Amino acid sequence: MRHRLWALAFCCAAVLIFQWAGAAQALVAIDPGHGGYDRGIIYDTGGKETSEKRVDLAISKAIAAALRAKGASVFLVRSVDRYLGIAQRARIASARQPAVFLSVHLASANAFQIYASLMPNVQLPPAAPAGGNQAPPAAPAAVNQAPGNLPPAGNQGVQAGPASGGGGQTGPDQQALRQYYLYSMRQRPYLGKSRDLASALEQSLKQAFPGETISYMEIPLPLLDAIAAPAVLVECPAPQYMDYNNPAVVSGMAQAIAGAIISYGTY
Ligand SMILES: [Zn+2]
Repeated sequence: MRHRLWALAFCCAAVLIFQWAGAAQALVAIDPGHGGYDRGIIYDTGGKETSEKRVDLAISKAIAAALRAKGASVFLVRSVDRYLGIAQRARIASARQPAVFLSVHLASANAFQIYASLMPNVQLPPAAPAGGNQAPPAAPAAVNQAPGNLPPAGNQGVQAGPASGGGGQTGPDQQALRQYYLYSMRQRPYLGKSRDLASALEQSLKQAFPGETISYMEIPLPLLDAIAAPAVLVECPAPQYMDYNNPAVVSGMAQAIAGAIISYGTY
């Protein structure tokens, strides 16, 4: 009997330590759209210009604050008004190996639009064997970032196969293209989880904004494709229809989005 109690105590301790370790590692990445000279959509709000980049950052900061208030660990891919390319965003986010990635944008209409990645249903060919002359597949047309700017694979689920550096016919260009292609496929193992996250977001926004149009689409998105974690992009209603100068509006939206992330997983 005593042995059983010890075993039970040991199991409980192991579970607690595992949960603590998991909680400590889980991290939410919030990616405010645009920045710097890339202002995003420019809206005419009552004769005054509103740049999407500014509102994206304000909503993102509010989401981060709401998540932290709920005990989550969060970081912003950009926290100031600066330009970041798609590859830079992917690299910054991937370096921290987030458990969830959310990109925040504005729509051009009075609607919430939620996006997850749509990836081509192709199998990765094996790396070219030594002395072989197998050309790597072409990168998807929607991806146009330079290979050198892409992040190193972190916790990626796609297996790269054996290194092809020893192949006499596999030049640096082919290797770079293959690496680039692999990076652009990092989202593939997380597609199901990304859909779950999108669904949680849709439900939460429907509750918080019952009168709003809220839709979900899967499209090829190079940024989400390169993220090795559940990843979703949300577009919030255009500022002609939502008063983002009102802190209560921004906070309410942030609460709904943060609530979805929390309900999707415990951080
Ligand atoms: Zn945008």
